[in-house]
Amino acid sequence: MSQPSKKLIYLKTDEEIERIKVSGQVLGKAHAEVARLIEPGVTTKELDQVAEEFIRDQGGVPSFKGYNKFPASLCISVNDAVVHGFPGKYVLKEGDIISIDCGVLLNGFHADSAYTYPVGEIRPEVKALLKRTYESLFKGIEKAVNGGRIGDIGYAVQSYVESFGYGVVRELVGHGVGKYLHESPEVPNFGRRGQGPKLQEGMVIAIEPMINLGKKNVVQEADGWTIRTSDHKPSAHYEHTVAVRKGQPEILTTFEYIEEVLSSRSLAIA
Ligand code: MG
Ligand code: MG
Repeated sequence: MSQPSKKLIYLKTDEEIERIKVSGQVLGKAHAEVARLIEPGVTTKELDQVAEEFIRDQGGVPSFKGYNKFPASLCISVNDAVVHGFPGKYVLKEGDIISIDCGVLLNGFHADSAYTYPVGEIRPEVKALLKRTYESLFKGIEKAVNGGRIGDIGYAVQSYVESFGYGVVRELVGHGVGKYLHESPEVPNFGRRGQGPKLQEGMVIAIEPMINLGKKNVVQEADGWTIRTSDHKPSAHYEHTVAVRKGQPEILTTFEYIEEVLSSRSLAIA
């Protein structure tokens, strides 16, 4: 999820970063519970119920539920939906892609991550979109080091995906994360090297490329939430919560559990 942020940048202590990591572990496992179930015939509502139940069983709270009146624990965005889709009666079908975005609040701290999955066999050009969007996330993460600038992250994501002719969504961005789900600074997926706020040890940010197979333009649905591509081509979204460190960033969320599930189902995207 990406929404307007609180104004101050809150630097985190090591202890606070550890707490975000604990939230990130529960979050990664919640994603994996959902990943197990993604196949043609399943409704998006069922996925949401499984995630909420898992998170609450672990003593956590789904960060999104009730956030600005968002009605669910997961943002589920299928095909040309970029982000902020609602779970509901939609039945997944072969050839869809589905982005699952989720947050967990535990011990006072949020973690936020997202993953886009194929539903059965998908078109090769869509498969390539998923793989390259995934790769762009890690190109951005590499730049989350002390002394750099926010623009270094956006530049890394943008220059990579634009080399394939993809569109980078401008209206929605990554964000600081911690006691609040959305804190400063904003973390755009586009930008110039050496520009924007300085990256400092102890900053915790959600980096979340939202990349379109076609043009960058998006529209908001009448429901007030769902964001779709204007040209109705598919869009992919991956997200990690990351601590800015000296030398090397520290990823606080995890795809490990998701990817165990995907490899066992021969659905790995990267
Ligand atoms: Mg998110
Ligand atoms: Mg986010």
